[in-house]
Amino acid sequence: MATEQSTERRFHRPSDIAEATALLREHDAVLVSGGQSLMPLIRQGMIDRDHLVDISNVDGYDEVEIDDGGLHLGGLVTHRELIEADLLETPYRALPETAKEIGDRQVRNWGTIGGSVAHADPSLDYPPTMTVLDAEVTYTGDGETTDRVPIDEFYFGPYVSVLQPHEIVVAVDVPDPGPNAGVAFEKFAWRRGDMSLVNVAARLTVDHAADTVEEARLCVGAMGPTPLRLTELEDELVGSDPHDADHQRAVADRIPEFTEPVPEEHASVDYKNRIASNLATKTLRTAAERAEEGA
Ligand SMILES: Cc1cc2nc3c(=O)[nH]c(=O)nc-3n(C[C@H](O)[C@H](O)[C@H](O)COP(=O)(O)OP(=O)(O)OC[C@H]3O[C@@H](n4cnc5c(N)ncnc54)[C@H](O)[C@@H]3O)c2cc1C
Repeated sequence: MATEQSTERRFHRPSDIAEATALLREHDAVLVSGGQSLMPLIRQGMIDRDHLVDISNVDGYDEVEIDDGGLHLGGLVTHRELIEADLLETPYRALPETAKEIGDRQVRNWGTIGGSVAHADPSLDYPPTMTVLDAEVTYTGDGETTDRVPIDEFYFGPYVSVLQPHEIVVAVDVPDPGPNAGVAFEKFAWRRGDMSLVNVAARLTVDHAADTVEEARLCVGAMGPTPLRLTELEDELVGSDPHDADHQRAVADRIPEFTEPVPEEHASVDYKNRIASNLATKTLRTAAERAEEGA
């Protein structure tokens, strides 16, 4: 382990995750992966700790692997590595498509999957996409044993998740959504590279013989204290005709019944809800078209 002493704080660079969790337990410390969310908060004085535990150089958590069970992403995979992993021709294409929408080149070069999931800011872009893909988050509190939880049970509120302060996200696993599934993600931000004002992800799995939607997932981000999975609307999509754009529009128009967006100076609750409904209509359309490609 390397430890740097500065006048203000100590920077620890553990050589493995077990050592990182031990340091987090031992000190009033905060974990750093890519630093893209954390360092701005430290600079602004919103987080103040004497010890930083930097795991960005720990080996063995940057794998992007597909097998029969699905896609495995190590917690230290960066947004850029996900984009470059050649997933666009796979059922997981919505993940690199989401990653491309994140921040600027520096954020994508340094920011990690684990940091993005753990940060639990409700406007982050991966969580809705991972939610509609039924992703599961694996984390550890000692580097030896792990817990695994579906991502739609991971968040409790803004910046609050199942994680204890010493626990580290080591992987995200995504089951194969199957050949008849279409998945899509859309975001609205004031400028390219900004955090989402609203984002939406959808998955439609189609029974081509019956020409109906067999399974649906719909999730909106930045519209409440956590990413919001809209199960009641998913139920309305199941059994519907995947080509019925009017029905999808009608379902998307009901989104305001389930959201609690925070109004901002240039974005009222009503404005955010209208954007969410429009984005959801588009996202459901794309998901349906992609499901058709598997027909
Ligand atoms: C200019 C700018 C633009 C951005 N735009 C977007 C955007 O458009 N979309 C988007 O989704 N995000 C955006 N972000 C946020 C950023 O992409 C992610 O939040 C960031 O990449 C998180 O990953 P990280 O590795 O940098 O986490 P860090 O900043 O290192 O950590 C974030 C938090 O998570 C904790 N943490 C880190 N890694 C782990 C882990 N493995 N296990 C447990 N806890 C952990 C840290 O202690 C900290 O509390 C932007 C950030 C900036 C600075």
